[in-house]
Amino acid sequence: MTRITLVQGDITRQSVDAIVNAANSSLLGGGGVDGAIHRRGGPAILADCRKLRASHYGKGLPTGQAVATTAGDLDAQWVIHTVGPVHSPSLDRSELLASCYRESLKRADELGARTVAFPAISTGIYGWPMDDGARIAVETVRDADTAVEEVRFVLFDERAYEAFARQLP
Ligand code: ADP
Repeated sequence: MTRITLVQGDITRQSVDAIVNAANSSLLGGGGVDGAIHRRGGPAILADCRKLRASHYGKGLPTGQAVATTAGDLDAQWVIHTVGPVHSPSLDRSELLASCYRESLKRADELGARTVAFPAISTGIYGWPMDDGARIAVETVRDADTAVEEVRFVLFDERAYEAFARQLP
């Protein structure tokens, strides 16, 4: 059974095996969590991302997929980059958001990571409503078939923390 825990704070300050990044498909950095991870993790992460762009992901990482790099100076072994969907009021992209959590946990299992920190993917710049993003995150992790022992959702503010807390018993 995977234990789900909630923390309010900055994901770049977590000590875990793997930190998940809400990246964009370029893998070359951006705002929000992505910017914070590259700033605190240092240039080694970007160097790995550039290698991925030069090899397997020439066109970038597709939405809903996940890929791991070094965690550089972060207190973790790996950063798992995943690309959330931009929220659309007319199209249901929930399955892509769920896929981010599932695929990230698959990469974690392949690496042997036992503790994984996730941000609330897509709920920032990509505009996903927080309550629905929290529901999809918690349901997907709960239903995942994974050897990860702890999934820690790291929520930046109280509003996000409360939204996730409402999804847990
Ligand atoms: P996306 O483009 O997937 O929406 P963002 O990084 O813009 O990604 O936002 C995702 C969520 O992460 C938002 O809820 C945002 O408030 C939160 N966030 C931003 N910075 C951090 C951080 N350093 N640690 C944890 N969560 C963060």
